[in-house]
Parts: sequence; structure tokens; C-alpha cells
Amino acid sequence: MSSVRVRFAPSPTGFLHVGSARTALFNWLYARHVGGTLVLRIEDTDVERSRHEWTEGIQTTLRWLGLDWDEGPYFQSQQFDRHLQVAQQLLEGGAAYECFCTEEEINARYEARKAAGPADPGYDGHCRDLSVEERARLAGEGRPRSIRFRTRDEGVSTFTDVIRGEVTVPWSTIPDFVIVRTSGAPVFYLANAVDDADTGITHVIRGEDLTDTTHRMLALRDALGVSDRPTFAHLPLLVGAGRSKLSKRHGAIAMEDFADKGYLPGALVNYLGLLGFSMPPAEDGTSREIASLDEMAEAFDLARVSPSPAFFDYDKLNWMNGEYIRALPTEEFVGQALPFGEARYGDRLDRVAFAGAMAIAQERATTLASAADSAWFLFVPEEDFAIADESLERLRSTERVGEILAAVADHLESCEWTIEGVDLRPVLEKLEIKPRKGLPAVYAAVEGTHAGLPLFDSILLLGRERAVRRIRAALALVT
Ligand code: GLU
Ligand code: ZN
Repeated sequence: MSSVRVRFAPSPTGFLHVGSARTALFNWLYARHVGGTLVLRIEDTDVERSRHEWTEGIQTTLRWLGLDWDEGPYFQSQQFDRHLQVAQQLLEGGAAYECFCTEEEINARYEARKAAGPADPGYDGHCRDLSVEERARLAGEGRPRSIRFRTRDEGVSTFTDVIRGEVTVPWSTIPDFVIVRTSGAPVFYLANAVDDADTGITHVIRGEDLTDTTHRMLALRDALGVSDRPTFAHLPLLVGAGRSKLSKRHGAIAMEDFADKGYLPGALVNYLGLLGFSMPPAEDGTSREIASLDEMAEAFDLARVSPSPAFFDYDKLNWMNGEYIRALPTEEFVGQALPFGEARYGDRLDRVAFAGAMAIAQERATTLASAADSAWFLFVPEEDFAIADESLERLRSTERVGEILAAVADHLESCEWTIEGVDLRPVLEKLEIKPRKGLPAVYAAVEGTHAGLPLFDSILLLGRERAVRRIRAALALVT
């Protein structure tokens, strides 16, 4: 066992976001690579927004992804007394002070400064040097009381980030900040810094959005006399199309949504592992992308993580998920797709037909959900079957579509009911129509879409009666 201790510290205020899942993964990969300890810490300082269900959901999702942890979950809320004790210690030592300002007063003073010239937003240090008497008077007025940490006025704060190099900001840009709210609750910065120090965290691996807060946490550690610093690695931001911060409008971002859409956990962690990290090339020099958790852990190196924003490419994830789907034994794929089929088709689902449909869907599937969707034409009540608009358009504009559908229906009515028997290419050839031109109309008639599961297998699965009926119904639409 190495002495490395890392932590994943989600706030349980919602579903596990893909950015957080990537953070969890990189902590896991690093811990497993060096044989260190991964701690799970639930940062539930925001009691109002934290929910037990989210805490459970995060753990369920981590397990689903195959990410285990060695210690925890620890709950930040259970350390409140400790956080407040530390705040008291800072107060007594003069590193922190009581502030009696209201939100409105702070804003009004900022507006006044701004009117007089360029001004820094944020707190102006108003209560820094109140005398004992003034404090007693303000408290006596029943004013709100928070505790603020006193930051330096001059000089710079610097730390070295494994991914970003030296990160430096002038102290003048960091105003005195609140560490205990007027409600008496400790603030994130304080809780985060104290918990990391108390649990001996050696490496802080987290999202780039927290880079700025690191200066505050380090100042708190210094004030507490914690002399060593953890190593920091701030992971690159995830961006979507347009290079903007990944958000709902780009696509799914909650891990639960990816599960609902039928992404395989192995494919997801593989893809997440490539967001900022790249596998070293294989021995023969070829680049490697498909890798299991263990393979990624073996190759993982914080020094290989790039500081530039990582593009979340849904198409690439779909491709990768398809690769994982194709790598499954067909029976297993069918088994995994089954709950998706049951959710869609309920009692109408016929397991044998479904297995047949999945066997032909596997080759081109991207997700379990879309594979299950592609079997719709088999389980839809006949009276609800309809051809999708775009496909109907395609069908109507097919040259000699009436002749094609009539000939296909006649053929299917009497042909041998085998995969060779339902091969429609000779039927079209007899009409001197290229299959490529004529068959999309038949797809549309049978499956409701011109780009569905392989046609001849689908016709067999559907059965002679329904197949012929649908083709004759389509014929009626065009004549
Ligand atoms: N609880 C913070 C969040 O979910 C993470 C804090 C950290 O990793 O230091 O954004
Ligand atoms: Zn104040």
C-alpha cells in the first residue's frame, strides 16, 4: 500500500454529473495506479439542497460504473462541530473576525465605490478592526453575524498544479471571505480545507472550476499551522459543441440519463477516461482508445493529463458504446437489452421475437435503448402502426413504388418462409429496379422507417401475414 490518499468529494445536490463522474474516475485511476487509498466524502454542507436520495444515487452510480472506494462515505455534515471549533480557533488567533454587515450594506458600499471610480467587487474589510465595544454593540442590535477569514492585502498566492504548472493570483483579488454563515453553518471552503487536512489527503484531484478556491483553502491550512500541502491536479473543463461548458443543451449530462439510454458502464468509463487523458500508444506504436478500467489504471499518469478543455463528443461515445455492444456475446446483449424492451413493450413483448430482433440489431447498435426501439415494428399494435413522416416521404417519391410494393406483396404471399425465400432482390431485379433504389420503400412499409433493422430478417420475424398486410396497406397509400 502506498501512502497516497485521494478523495472524491461530491455535493449530494443532484444526479451525478458527467464532470463529477470523470473526477471520480481520475481519482480512482490514480489511487489504483499507485496502490493508494480512495476516500469518498459526501460534501453535504449545504443542508438545504443536500438530499439522502442523491447521496444514495451517487454511490449506486459509482458502483454501476465499477468505481469502488476504500474509506467512507464520510459525511461533512457530521464534522460541523469540528469545523466550528476550527473557526473559533481562527477567530481567537486573529486570522478571522466577526462581520455584522448585511448583504445590502455590502452591496451599497460597493456601488458607492464604483461611482467614485474603478472598484473591486466583494467585501471591503469593513468589520476587520472593530473594537470589543463596537462588536458588543452590533451584536446587541441583533444584527446577523458571520465569520470572515482575513486574507492578505499584498503579495501573491501561488501553488503548483501537476496539470497546470504554477498558478498565481494577487491577494488583492481575493477579498476576506465568509467561513461561517450567519446561520452558524460552516462554509464549503472551511469544511473542505479542514476535512482534507484531518483525513491526511495527499492529492487533491478535482475539476478546473475549483482552481480559484484552492488559494483560499491553502490560506486556511496555513493559518491552522498545517505545514504540508497536498499535491493539486485540476482536471480540464468538459465542453460541448461550440466549445462552451458542457450542459444539458448539449445532451445527457447526468450519469443516470446515460444509464437510461442504455450506455454500458464499461464503455462510459472508457470514454470518460479519455477526457483529458490519453492512453500511451501500444508497443507497436498504434494508438489505443478501447481500454478496460484496469488497463487505464495501469497506464494512468497525472502528468499525461492535458490542461486544455476536453471536448465531450457524443458521436464518439456512441461509437465506443457500439464497440462494447458488439464485443458482448449475443445472448448477453439480448439479456441486457431485455429490460429496455420490457419497459417499452410491456406484455406485448415476445421474448423469442425480441431475441431475434436484438441478434440482428447488435451489429449496428449504438445503445441498448436504440436497439430496443428498433424492434418497435414487431410489438406495436397493428392499428397503431404508422410509417414515420420522413420515411413515408421517401416511399412516396420512390419511382414505380406501386409496382414494387405489389410485386413484393405477391411474392411474400406465396414464397417459401425462409431467409432465402424472403430475399426480395430477385423480385426487384425482375422489374429491372436496383434493390438500393427500391428496398427503402419496403423497409418503410414493413418497419415504419427506411433505415431500420436488416429487412429480410425483419420480414421473417414479423411473419407472413403481418408483412403482407403492411405492404398492401402502404400500397393503398400510394395508389
Ligand atoms: N464538493 C465539491 C463539488 O462537488 C468538490 C470539492 C472538491 O473536490 O474539493 O463540486
Ligand atoms: Zn462586515
